[in-house]
Amino acid sequence: MALRDIVFLPEPVLRRKAKPVTKFDKDLQTLIDDMIETMREAPGVGLAAPQVNISQQLAVVEYAEDEDEEENEDAPPKPKKLYVLINPEIVKASDEKVMGVEGCLSIPGLLGEVERHEAIQVKALNRHGNPVKLKVDGWMARIFQHEIDHLNGVLFTDHATRVWKPSEEENDEVDLD
Ligand code: ZN
Repeated sequence: MALRDIVFLPEPVLRRKAKPVTKFDKDLQTLIDDMIETMREAPGVGLAAPQVNISQQLAVVEYAEDEDEEENEDAPPKPKKLYVLINPEIVKASDEKVMGVEGCLSIPGLLGEVERHEAIQVKALNRHGNPVKLKVDGWMARIFQHEIDHLNGVLFTDHATRVWKPSEEENDEVDLD
């Protein structure tokens, strides 16, 4: 496994619609493992292939599901869930939308307030090329939408109602993807 270089705006690959993955060969497996390693190293909660200069419909996500409403300080932290999304497509989206603060590994030093569907259903392929259907909500749904946007050349700043340069402390509080 190896770390890949993350590319930044205005790298054109970030604005291109990525091509569907058609070959589930050894090179793809290596790319997926490299992307997982690169995401963890960044650190980030998601990473899309265009962010490592590869215009393919592939993204990885790793995040611990949202905490329960009732805060229980003694509860152990929830385990992180890892997803590999290939050729993902949103097939259902909740009418309910929620605001949240997002940043992006490819747009350092900028945060934005973005409205997203609270819950979505996604059809995708896993790393072996088998179809999967995923239902996610809360922050996980936000990360999925951010990553799927990347595969279409869309960045969070395109949707943001407000964008600002955060202080270092504020920047540290936001998960990037
Ligand atoms: Zn991003």
